[in-house]
Amino acid sequence: MYEDNITKENILSLDKKDDLAGFRSRFYIPHRTIYMDGNSLGLLSKDSEKSLLRLLQEWKTLGIKGWMEGERPWFWFAEEMGALAATIVGARPEEVILSGTTTINIHALVSSFYNPHGKKVKILADELNFPSDIYALKGQLKLRGFDPGKHLVLAKADKNGLLNEQHIVDLMDDETALVFLPSVIYSTGQLLNMELLTAEAHKRNICIGFDCSHSVGAIDHSFNEWDVDFALWCSYKYLNGGPGSAAFYYVNKKHFNKQPLLAGWVGYQKEKQFDMLQEFIPSPNAGRWQISSPGILGSSAIEGSLKIIFEAGICNIRKKSLKLTSLLAELLQKKIISKYKDCKIVTPLAEEKRGGHIAIEHPEAIRINEALKQKGIIPDLRPPNIIRIAPVALYNTFEEVWEVVETLKEIIDKKEYELYDKQNKYVT
Ligand SMILES: *Cc1c(COP(=O)(O)O)cnc(C)c1O
Repeated sequence: MYEDNITKENILSLDKKDDLAGFRSRFYIPHRTIYMDGNSLGLLSKDSEKSLLRLLQEWKTLGIKGWMEGERPWFWFAEEMGALAATIVGARPEEVILSGTTTINIHALVSSFYNPHGKKVKILADELNFPSDIYALKGQLKLRGFDPGKHLVLAKADKNGLLNEQHIVDLMDDETALVFLPSVIYSTGQLLNMELLTAEAHKRNICIGFDCSHSVGAIDHSFNEWDVDFALWCSYKYLNGGPGSAAFYYVNKKHFNKQPLLAGWVGYQKEKQFDMLQEFIPSPNAGRWQISSPGILGSSAIEGSLKIIFEAGICNIRKKSLKLTSLLAELLQKKIISKYKDCKIVTPLAEEKRGGHIAIEHPEAIRINEALKQKGIIPDLRPPNIIRIAPVALYNTFEEVWEVVETLKEIIDKKEYELYDKQNKYVT
């Protein structure tokens, strides 16, 4: 994609031509740091700081009245944020809700979408899935009296560590009750073809849901067009909502008649929630899967961060993200990988097959990660041997990508990682 001899000058001109360059100054970038970890925890923006401070002010001055009299009444906050987020995933406003956390939402939705009957009792997922998702699926199977050892089918990765869509499709059979997969695999950065997988699942009369924690905010989605049954995603990665902020879920309108089995009072018809009746009358839309009071304070930063994403435009974000990761992959290839056989890029290089980060495999990943941090670069480690580098379209520059590769090259060429401990001590 880039010319043969990429120079620092070429790179600086990419930053000058970048239409999204102005958004960087809306973020707080940690001092003297090249932050390449937005796929684990996105950075705070000034817009998010403002929406968070407004919430504090409202709580201070309005007390309980904030539920109805806040600038965005707290009572409708989950629905309003859902309607805003719906536009970046290609959904209708009433199909998306800000609620709970990713794993809680997996439990809440899978309990309604997994309806074992006759010989259709299995759940199909994949062996690379985020562990929490697998724990939740196993728990759901046990709750229904099934044996995860037999009834959870995990598609295997190929020898390159990648999943093959056709292999997943071949595993969808007349015993499959539900398919649940990631959009982007958190470790390798591979993006699955959700449209194809959804069409194939539906041909076989199987419901399909996706965990999009590693794609929403970095990639545009078309849930309605693809007819995805349900999806969920966290808001603290590419959505920059802050550590532990509430997550989102999507339920296709055609499933608004399904019953939430993990019911709670916030899933009640909104207008009647405070009638405090013992019989559960669910909200007529996706709101019915909410369980508890929305975490207003903890998720108020999302309002500001969604505002930035709309201003930038999710398709422009995806375009720049692909340019950043293409440059990163190309520089890594030329400057490092071509020289060292034990280092490789795991992420597929075709644009339609990758998310927002590039994953590098190296036997010394743990120590290289330490060395990078000592030099002011924040990557992300997935032990034992994967380093993830996520240049984020809204706040990273092409120059930073260049610097990361130069630094990494120096660490590997001079074996600087040998100064560090082999043990992974950090949480990332
Ligand atoms: C980040 C992430 C989670 C996090 O789950 P929480 O319940 O929000 O802690 C779960 N699944 C995937 C695939 C993720 O990327």
